[in-house]
Amino acid sequence: MNKPQMSIREALTALELTEEATLGDVRHQYRRLAMVWHPDKNASTSAATRMVRINLAWECVLKLFQDCVGSADREFDDIKVVAAFATVHLNSVGASSNPFDFSGSSSPWRSAHQERQDPFWQGQQFYGGTVPGKRGRNIKRKLKLTLFEAAFGTVRELEGEVQDLCTTCGGDGRSSRHGRQCTACRGAGAIRADRSYSQRWSSANVECPTCRGHGQIFESCKACEGNGLGAMRKWNTVIKTPPGARTGDVLVQFGMGGKSSSPDLQGELHCSIEVLPHDYLHLNEDGVLEVNALVSIWRWIAGGEVVVPLLDGSRVVRFPSMAHEVYVKGEGWPTPEGKGVRGDLLVQMMPLPLGELTQEQRQAVDKLASEDMHPFLKQWDQAMQAWTHGTQATRFPEKPPRKKKAPGMP
Ligand SMILES: [Zn+2]
Ligand SMILES: [Zn+2]
Repeated sequence: MNKPQMSIREALTALELTEEATLGDVRHQYRRLAMVWHPDKNASTSAATRMVRINLAWECVLKLFQDCVGSADREFDDIKVVAAFATVHLNSVGASSNPFDFSGSSSPWRSAHQERQDPFWQGQQFYGGTVPGKRGRNIKRKLKLTLFEAAFGTVRELEGEVQDLCTTCGGDGRSSRHGRQCTACRGAGAIRADRSYSQRWSSANVECPTCRGHGQIFESCKACEGNGLGAMRKWNTVIKTPPGARTGDVLVQFGMGGKSSSPDLQGELHCSIEVLPHDYLHLNEDGVLEVNALVSIWRWIAGGEVVVPLLDGSRVVRFPSMAHEVYVKGEGWPTPEGKGVRGDLLVQMMPLPLGELTQEQRQAVDKLASEDMHPFLKQWDQAMQAWTHGTQATRFPEKPPRKKKAPGMP
């Protein structure tokens, strides 16, 4: 399917829906509008162009859900379109500067909050004018992923309950932003009161007890009786984690938290990722996937092959004699650049400590020892011969020896 030539915002408008609409709403509305505007059923001149836009909008939402959760099946009908939009969008941070381009990249995000700058999410531009009220509550969740899920990405359904703010006053508790002037302090917020300081009487300003220093008296919001709270509300959504997620990454979905007096003040869902530890595979601090490979010390000395676990299988890896580290190309952690590129897997060779030797092993090692032709061994032999036949003067010369490598020391 080609990329639909329509933004999510335009799609919702074309379907006569708000940003509260779920996939189910879109499905229902698409059918309804298609009945009304299909050229076979509607003779008006604008019917054909309307139908094209309605089809485009439907295609656009379908594509969004396919990118977000892999399908637009009915099981996702409860999910808000903007929630799916936010998830996909975050996944493509850095891949595109166009906030409405969700044409598909899976690079991990790092700075979710910069997305707040997008005009779609800026209330001042989208909804027009500043609105009173506080930001709705953010929902915080911990997302525990296995190493496999973290590496390749996964989809999680989340649900819970959130306390909304009063949608009338936005948590403010007041019926309007401006009250009437306090008569006790004439709007000053403070009154003069006599006080005693060390037996000396003086007067000082204190907070006006009638208006508590505001200078104005506010009417309580009638919808919430002044406590600023709205309803407890059940929520649910799906989160798609990008490949290569790491512990400490935070995935943000906008418009999923507690509500307030306007949609742009709705809180966010923050999912912080924790990657579960694994017995064999381990993501180190440099973001390199590591595995420890146990080998016999003799095999390690000789070099050879070892079977190592991969994220999705295993591989026989050749290693040179006495190698400490071997890399398996392309079997490591996904790179931050994304696009399916993976780093290399680091295999740490772990030769096992020597155990008790058998008679045969002892003989074999003895043979190896007697055949050892290391050049420093020859130098050491010569030095020991000189020592043996030397005198105190040659063994302990008064002049310090010229700086040179001591025999036997590499
Ligand atoms: Zn007052
Ligand atoms: Zn209220």
